[in-house]
Amino acid sequence: MVSVRVAIIGAGPAGLFAGAGLARRGHKVTAVERDPGPAADGTWPRRGVMQFHHAHAFRHQVAQALQQELPEALQRWLAAGAEPVRLRMPDGAEIPMGVRSRRMTFEHALRASALEEPGLQIRRGRVDEVTSRGGRADGIRADGVRLPADLVIDASGRAGRATRSLRPEAASGGPCGIAYVDRQYQLHPGAGPGPLANPIAWQADLDGYQAIIFLHEQGIFSVLLVRRTADPVLSQLRHEAAFTAACRAIPGLADWTKPDRARPITPVLPGGPLLNAYRGQTRRDGRLALPGLVFVGDAVATTTPTFGRGITTTLLQAQQLLRLIDEHGADVETVGVSFDGWCVEQIKPWVDDHVHMDESTRRRWAGEDVDVSLPLPSDLVLAAAEADPVIRAAIGGYLAMTALPSSLRTVEPRARALYASGWRPRLVPGPSHNQLADIVRTALHASAAARHPAPRVGLAQENGTGHGIAPAWPSRTHCEG
Ligand SMILES: Cc1cc2nc3c(=O)[nH]c(=O)nc-3n(C[C@H](O)[C@H](O)[C@H](O)COP(=O)(O)OP(=O)(O)OC[C@H]3O[C@@H](n4cnc5c(N)ncnc54)[C@H](O)[C@@H]3O)c2cc1C
Repeated sequence: MVSVRVAIIGAGPAGLFAGAGLARRGHKVTAVERDPGPAADGTWPRRGVMQFHHAHAFRHQVAQALQQELPEALQRWLAAGAEPVRLRMPDGAEIPMGVRSRRMTFEHALRASALEEPGLQIRRGRVDEVTSRGGRADGIRADGVRLPADLVIDASGRAGRATRSLRPEAASGGPCGIAYVDRQYQLHPGAGPGPLANPIAWQADLDGYQAIIFLHEQGIFSVLLVRRTADPVLSQLRHEAAFTAACRAIPGLADWTKPDRARPITPVLPGGPLLNAYRGQTRRDGRLALPGLVFVGDAVATTTPTFGRGITTTLLQAQQLLRLIDEHGADVETVGVSFDGWCVEQIKPWVDDHVHMDESTRRRWAGEDVDVSLPLPSDLVLAAAEADPVIRAAIGGYLAMTALPSSLRTVEPRARALYASGWRPRLVPGPSHNQLADIVRTALHASAAARHPAPRVGLAQENGTGHGIAPAWPSRTHCEG
């Protein structure tokens, strides 16, 4: 096989997995990553990946991809405490479902195994641009130094800037109007878990927002509260007092987070507004953005994380790219065109699926009813499985991501007829949106009052403000919308 010189922008899941896979095949690979690796004490600040410390759930496909390409990474991941879990089906059969782990534990294992590949060099630095000659990519420039390459892989994630002028416009998606906030907790030794819908997660659809638990390794779990981006009161859940009060008020979360069961191990982590985006390899005229440059991972497809699909779609892409490089070697134009065709068929439908679901969720959270004049989004079809065994029997492939979203089309008309009859999914008991907003306000008032006890009336009058306590809304700003 011809050995190809490959330069990779970014060493996150896509860059590490593709880089290690290519190095194993005898190619000469350099990945350039702007973030440092983990510190000796195990901490790993990761400025380049905003979601690094946020909740991640891992599907079975992630373990499967590691087993197929980089089994040492899977072994390392498991040795670090990651817990593979299986799902019992209604017929009693058990299928592998996913792996309980934090993102840091996963990426630690992947990076350590990638670093052992002799043909892969991971350099610290910032890639400034892709260089080209005769209309083809011929390398990258990182911190002013040129690295020649036959193939450049952009694995720089959803917001990578080095290829901004080259990246095709997003073919679908955009900000989805939904944001979330989360916090990690750990069960006390010997404490059992709270309610679970499956071995990895618990999800509650409440009136106007969602609460989710993602279980990681060794009793560590994340609590997520998902809301509309345009919700100034619930955006205050990023403050500890408000988040804690919400956890106490929502029955399932109260069970998980009660002090005799678990303790918080991180501050409250506000996430940025979430995004769905699909970018192919080609410009509007159908030609590759730049022959010899291939985008992979979140640089191609970003989905809102509520279904935990991002690392799966990332590694599935990287595996396909490896297959195509095996097949076409240095014929980088054919690699790019074939990869684009595969992504349109296998990856874009997941982004489109999320665009549809999130738009409909956002509208329902703003008070609109289900629109039965249009095809239902997948989450509403899934919800209808509760009432219809025929729908229940048809959703397994979609849920496991072994069948594309189009697999739900056969039962969508049944689900729509059910909604048209007036049926609606049952909401989980708990505060409505407006009640939660009151809980947030009250908690912030109480916390502000505790931090700044009201001065005596005379003092307040003396300072001329007439205000005895600090404003209810802290003035600190965050990245959240
Ligand atoms: C809030 C949130 C929660 C998520 N939860 C889940 C989940 O539960 N399950 C799941 O499967 N997926 C989840 N995802 C998606 C998942 O995080 C992504 O799919 C995954 O990070 C994509 O990997 P990547 O390697 O393509 O990109 P990234 O992880 O973004 O890695 C890109 C790398 O490139 C580096 N880089 C960028 N530009 C440069 C440059 N110019 N020079 C050098 N280096 C550069 C960055 O530092 C970074 O290390 C979530 C995403 C978000 C936003």
